Amino acid sequence: MQNQVKILILEDDHYFIAPIKYHLEKAGYIVFVLDILENAESAQELVFQHSPNIILCDIQMRPNGFEILRTIKSHSQLRLIPFIFMTGIESLPERIRAYLGGVDDFIIKPINRDEMLAKISSIMKRQDDLEHAIYLDPLTQIYNRRYFQKELMRQIKLHHRHGDGFTLVMMDLDHFKTVNDTYGHSCGDQVLIAFTRFIQNNIRTTDILSRWGGEEFFLIMERSEIEGAIKTVEGLLNNLQEQVKVKWNDEEISFTFSAGIAQFPLHGEDPQVLIDTADRGLYKAKESGRCRVEIGTPGN
Ligand code: GH3
Ligand code: MG
Ligand code: MG
Ligand code: MG
Repeated sequence: MQNQVKILILEDDHYFIAPIKYHLEKAGYIVFVLDILENAESAQELVFQHSPNIILCDIQMRPNGFEILRTIKSHSQLRLIPFIFMTGIESLPERIRAYLGGVDDFIIKPINRDEMLAKISSIMKRQDDLEHAIYLDPLTQIYNRRYFQKELMRQIKLHHRHGDGFTLVMMDLDHFKTVNDTYGHSCGDQVLIAFTRFIQNNIRTTDILSRWGGEEFFLIMERSEIEGAIKTVEGLLNNLQEQVKVKWNDEEISFTFSAGIAQFPLHGEDPQVLIDTADRGLYKAKESGRCRVEIGTPGN
């Protein structure tokens, strides 16, 4: 699930960080370092924005590592991120306190490079399996609704930091029930797989496709404007019809979808408002004949 593993290091000792960062980057990891933190709450905010796959945290820093641990573990979207303390030998009660607070493991200073890399690799392997189970849809292998909701929140937060907008596209296959009724449920499943493959292969790598449920999907288009998004979706509609055919027995089945669009922050800044707006656009697209994209209107 992870393309390149992002490691976040929270540590204030620059002499200590430099070799660690070097070894981790050489091993192929992307490394961020946060050395100055106002308080544990700002650490939580920054972790959310960076969205790391694993956190390595010093204990002896300001704020104290235990404080940071507490705020990260109290955040529903962050608590699953593996958290490792980098520390000199702490007392047994301290280590117990750390485990009970949710720490996964310790890396003991002075750090042994091979042990550190082995530990991170092992934890990331397990995390990858876990994230597959939590965030991927088993049929289509794209992100599921849980991941979508997390990502939508993250995009909104990112906006408050960078000011970038994004487009939310809700897509629903047209007359999909007829595919199931005519060719059977297994054929319907193949159509869902073909659809998601096609979309995934024809969007930018930064765009996020997810299955909302049934034959309904959401696409988050990062840093996108409404006009460009409409052109993209219209391109997808045309190319899908031309290029994608599902072979079933001796037939070739083609299919279409309808889409509704909501623009952040133009149509609202609340996740539910955006979802409802895209849904209204979708309803309009269905009403006006399907196989088209419509912009949603906020409100009821
Ligand atoms: P519309 O153009 O108005 O969207 O019509 P539709 O037939 O696509 O919509 P409807 O909501 O009537 O039917 C959706 C169907 O999708 C019904 C449901 O059984 C089917 N479905 C949902 N999940 C799956 C799945 O995982 N596999 C298959 N094969 N079918 C599914
Ligand atoms: Mg320190
Ligand atoms: Mg539907
Ligand atoms: Mg449908």
